[in-house]
Amino acid sequence: MNFEYTDRSKELQAQIADFMQQHIFPLEKAYFDFTDEHPWQVYPEIERLKSLAKKAGLWNLFLPPNYGDWSPGLSNLEYAPLAALMGQVVWASKVFNCSAPDTGNMEVLSKYGTPEQQAQWLQPLMDGQIRSAFLMTEPQVASSDATNIETSIVRDGEEYVINGHKWWSSGAMHPYTKMYIIMGKTDPTAPRHAQQSMIIVPANTPGIKIIRPLKVYGAYESPEGHAEIALENVRVPASNLLVGEGSGFQIAQGRLGPGRIHHCMRLIGAAERALQLMCKRVSERTTFGKEVSQYSSIRQEIAKSRCEIEQARLLTLSAADKIDRFGVKAAKDLIAMIKIVVPNMTCTVVDRAIQAHGGMGVCQDTPLANFWIYGRAIRIADGPDEVHMYQLGRNTIKQVLAGG
Ligand SMILES: Cc1cc2nc3c(=O)[nH]c(=O)nc-3n(C[C@H](O)[C@H](O)[C@H](O)COP(=O)(O)OP(=O)(O)OC[C@H]3O[C@@H](n4cnc5c(N)ncnc54)[C@H](O)[C@@H]3O)c2cc1C
Repeated sequence: MNFEYTDRSKELQAQIADFMQQHIFPLEKAYFDFTDEHPWQVYPEIERLKSLAKKAGLWNLFLPPNYGDWSPGLSNLEYAPLAALMGQVVWASKVFNCSAPDTGNMEVLSKYGTPEQQAQWLQPLMDGQIRSAFLMTEPQVASSDATNIETSIVRDGEEYVINGHKWWSSGAMHPYTKMYIIMGKTDPTAPRHAQQSMIIVPANTPGIKIIRPLKVYGAYESPEGHAEIALENVRVPASNLLVGEGSGFQIAQGRLGPGRIHHCMRLIGAAERALQLMCKRVSERTTFGKEVSQYSSIRQEIAKSRCEIEQARLLTLSAADKIDRFGVKAAKDLIAMIKIVVPNMTCTVVDRAIQAHGGMGVCQDTPLANFWIYGRAIRIADGPDEVHMYQLGRNTIKQVLAGG
């Protein structure tokens, strides 16, 4: 395994680091002040930043070469350090058109969409003109097991009719969100993993009712937000179905590919930044006649954080490298490992940094509180920790018993 970055990745790292310094860090706090005061409105500087990033070629870098002409050609290993740089500011990835849930939806559409679906939805997403949401989770069933999903997608002539109740639809509150990819059942009598399908639904289709935005630890995470949505006799053309009836799980596997390790890549950057902030803060304050950085307990926290970030970073690069060389299926254990390790590591490291900042750490004057919320929510949003452990434990036992 060689984790030496390619020249292209190094050049892009320098460009993104510079872009962050010049354009993103100076506006980091103003963004949150604006979104706090203007829920569901887009911070006016975002579109300007997006066009600067696009002009600089720092655009759609997330899509690996096996996505053909849609890809700018970077491997997951080349992209990982770029995503970490973006992760230093929780809203930065959208400036580079590299943010969830659009990235997952773009992956799905580039891999499974028809030329017509791609022209209508993928192209404007890739151009950053529209946003999107992915509607799988439902309040009435345990959705970490997607076979439980109950939304019905029923064929009626040249249309499908959709009825159901969704929540945690990230991005659905954003004023630019024009389409959803909805998961539901086309045939509840089919074998367990052939009941589900995915279908494209324009956000303005009659019968879609936004019930309310959900808060994450008290924050709306505006303008994207996380919506609870009722779907009542929502009709779309039959040609909006992705791939074919019963392909929902096959597509979900694709969606769980590279896109799902982007959160881990970004969280490494968030943890790095938290550690930097912690080191600076403890070097600026004095208690009981000593600089806080001089206390052994503080140095131990910093040392442990340094080790844990590096361990998690190498594990993430290892997963990215395995996906690049052998595909998502072969990398599934490493993907599970980083999903277990990285968000937990981020929460631990950020929590130490919060503690070292005292009262300042829990308020809006540093990015730490948002980093912690991000890491904590990902322990559920990207599939609960326990589900990754359940699958990794099962695979490990199988491999040991098979003598592997
Ligand atoms: C901030 C945020 C954003 C999200 N964005 C989206 C989105 O855009 N689109 C979308 O469709 N969904 C989204 N979700 C939903 C997320 O994917 C689900 O919350 C997640 O899959 C868990 O489903 P659930 O909430 O129904 O929990 P449940 O399935 O009810 O699980 C609850 C708990 O049961 C335990 N558990 C479950 N299985 C096992 C097991 N095998 N072993 C041991 N314990 C287990 C775990 O502790 C788990 O956390 C988001 C969630 C959050 C918090």
